[in-house]
Amino acid sequence: MNWTLEDSWSYIENFRQHDVPSADDIVHLDIAMMAVLGPLDVETHCSRLGYSARFPRYQQAYPEMTPAEEIKALETHWRARVEDVRQLEALIDSKKREHRRNCTHEWTCDTEARSCRSRYICTKCGQCR
Ligand SMILES: [Zn+2]
Repeated sequence: MNWTLEDSWSYIENFRQHDVPSADDIVHLDIAMMAVLGPLDVETHCSRLGYSARFPRYQQAYPEMTPAEEIKALETHWRARVEDVRQLEALIDSKKREHRRNCTHEWTCDTEARSCRSRYICTKCGQCR
């Protein structure tokens, strides 16, 4: 579905009149919102404010593409998501290190078998010693 910007705005404005929007109505609203927000550089603005990327949706099938084109398109979506997961893992690791560095540890005897082979674990941050 290729809507013009005007089509998208029109759909968004008319959407408010739906008392009980159908599933298709909701999907079309999402498409219209992205069509409006995309040219406004929403990804740059969200990133500047600390929000993660919003991925374009992929489709289960692209009947207009050849099999090779379809696979290439899906792999492009997959690579972007893998990179996002990698960045999210790095952010989580960084936050854990910061939390442990600033923690006023409260050590307790570790009664569970953990991979760190430690006898004590901090009840606040999970660090072993
Ligand atoms: Zn701690």
